[in-house]
Amino acid sequence: MKNSSCRLCKSRDLHKFLELGPQPLAGKFLTSEQLAEKEDYFPLGVFFCKNCALVQVLDVVPKDKLFSQYFYAPHSVLSPHFTGYAKEITAEFGLNGKSLLVEIGSNIGMMLKPLKELCGVKAIGVEPAENIAKMANEMGLETINDFFTEKVAGGIVEKLGKADMVVANNVFAHIDDLDEILRGIKALLKEDGVFIFENHYLLDTVENLQYDDVYHEHLCYYSLHPLIPYLGKYGLRVFDAKRIKTHGGSIRVYCGNSKRKVKPAVQELLKEEKKHGLDKLETYMEFGNKVEKRRKELTKLLHSLKSGGKTIVGYGAPARGNTLLNYCKIGTGILDYIVDDSPLRQNKFTPGTHIPIIPVDRFRKENPDYALLLAYGGYTETILKKEGEFIKNGGKFIVPLPEVKIIGKQ
Ligand SMILES: [Zn+2]
Repeated sequence: MKNSSCRLCKSRDLHKFLELGPQPLAGKFLTSEQLAEKEDYFPLGVFFCKNCALVQVLDVVPKDKLFSQYFYAPHSVLSPHFTGYAKEITAEFGLNGKSLLVEIGSNIGMMLKPLKELCGVKAIGVEPAENIAKMANEMGLETINDFFTEKVAGGIVEKLGKADMVVANNVFAHIDDLDEILRGIKALLKEDGVFIFENHYLLDTVENLQYDDVYHEHLCYYSLHPLIPYLGKYGLRVFDAKRIKTHGGSIRVYCGNSKRKVKPAVQELLKEEKKHGLDKLETYMEFGNKVEKRRKELTKLLHSLKSGGKTIVGYGAPARGNTLLNYCKIGTGILDYIVDDSPLRQNKFTPGTHIPIIPVDRFRKENPDYALLLAYGGYTETILKKEGEFIKNGGKFIVPLPEVKIIGKQ
């Protein structure tokens, strides 16, 4: 299915600046039995709306294909982030044992858990992936296994009343029918309630050339500029926003009713977005050209190392890594294997490129010559620290973006 109008403003003045497809689904890691089956491939073009400046993918994969069994469980690295986030909002908005909080796309409950522990808030998650929702419920974190809709919101209100706060972390970009979600939030939230969401930030995507953040799950790439008028249509005023480090650069946006006083941070970020040309098509045309250039540089490097007899593996198997691997056509001819900490991905194979994913131990034992860093961005420093021994033994990391860079002993 392909949309022909902008998800926010419904304009048809849409311009493609990057084509990364055809691509398989980035989050669909394969079992060894599934390797023999034919995989689904979908186009993956990225468009800019000249009317409202929203950046978006127009090809929509049916959501039951995408999220019914989702392999993304947040890395333990994110645990301090959610604890800090929970502390901040508990203090700022005075959440307590009487408050009701609903999290949309709550995953395994990384945020619900610290919130409950901190202030005893009644916290309910809504999570569409059956396997993930089950894990949360087993840990005692109440989670409704469903897509968040106006109907689900109505069900919660009927049972528990309206919510003091609704949060949505890294899900807002996944939704094709945003109007449905916004109607649901509107129905769920108390008149003076607060809606907070975190999302990958377009300014970071553009500044750091993170084209690998583009995959079918991510339908929209947000900046404040198009969001403010859109949320305004639902009576939600953006009264605060801050940049945060997760996922290689994100934004946290706070919305409330029209009585909320808008903090200076909102204007400051809007100014920054303008300075970087986020409202101009030319910015994205240049982005597309740079992406193509980086692909050529990376594949040239990898091929020359390989033909020189070097061993190369991948480090980290996030979904986003699959966009890069498929776009650059990096398969088992280049990477012997990929190591990853998550048991959900271990012993599986990358979609499209079919590279085996194994636990990190083997990498440490074999000390290959090079490791292509697929989980990078905010994680690079943590990984370099963790794998000091690899570098000490002469191993080198290849960072693919924003510039192709080799890190190791000279
Ligand atoms: Zn638009």
